Amino acid sequence: MVAAISVQNVSKLYNKVPVVDNLSIDIEEGEIFGLLGPNGAGKSTTIRMMITLTQPTQGKIQVAGYDIDKHREQVKRNIGVVLQQISIDGELTVWENMEFHGRMHHIPSNKRQSLIDQWLDYMSLSDRKDTLAKTLSGGMKRRLQIARALLHQPQILVLDEPTVGLDPQNRRRLWEVIRDLNRQGMTILLTTHYMEEVEFLCEDSGTRKQGRIGIMDNGKLIELGTLSDFRRKYGEGLVIKQVEDHLDYKFFPTLDQANLYLETLVDKTGVMSRASNLEDIFVEMTGHRLD
Ligand code: ADP
Repeated sequence: MVAAISVQNVSKLYNKVPVVDNLSIDIEEGEIFGLLGPNGAGKSTTIRMMITLTQPTQGKIQVAGYDIDKHREQVKRNIGVVLQQISIDGELTVWENMEFHGRMHHIPSNKRQSLIDQWLDYMSLSDRKDTLAKTLSGGMKRRLQIARALLHQPQILVLDEPTVGLDPQNRRRLWEVIRDLNRQGMTILLTTHYMEEVEFLCEDSGTRKQGRIGIMDNGKLIELGTLSDFRRKYGEGLVIKQVEDHLDYKFFPTLDQANLYLETLVDKTGVMSRASNLEDIFVEMTGHRLD
């Protein structure tokens, strides 16, 4: 099977410094994949290369089987993009933003109108068609960006930090949309520095495959797998102890084992056990917190 996105030994150097350093990832068709890492890790640069906005210094990227150098148009046709920087045009109405994008992609008029209606409806923006985009709330603007990215019916949706700046309610709403699109078969790649975002989006939902998480730090992919893989590898149980001004973490293969260890301690002051989460594991991997 052809990977939806294939990144092979890709590096990007700025001023001779690698900001993406020999990265290789294959994102499967229908997969939801979260690229997680601190600011400056190289996540946006990776995405910008995939969507042909900037060229790799070395390595090979294919999107839907098309080489990003040789087949830019096919790459663009197969991928929908939601970036923070490339925003909607505030001086145009919601409908005009959609219409403009549809024309750019040469979607015939009849089909364009029905697709605009379909995606505005899906994103609950139908009643805002004639609203100037600059007057929309932050959550609505982001929904419009997604509606627009989906208009040319791509199979792959790429979102760079999709919920930055949104309140918890709007963030949750977008997560539901992203998860629903994935359930419908769309390949989703998103970058984020929010642990709970990948925990929610890449969790095992029963109705679809658990998503994978790639952890980037300093331009390198330092870990790749599902949250279950990580918890199995680093430990599912945790004992935390307050030592002066910091917390000491000790991982155990299971929560039961962490509890048993806790019971053996004579002095349990400032000590607790619980199941490990992605944040604990991230700190264990990288030696630092995300924020
Ligand atoms: P992330 O998305 O993980 O926050 P970025 O890919 O935006 O990381 O940035 C990775 C590194 O590359 C940062 O140190 C950033 O300053 C640098 N960088 C990004 N774009 C450019 C550019 N156009 N010129 C020079 N340095 C850049």
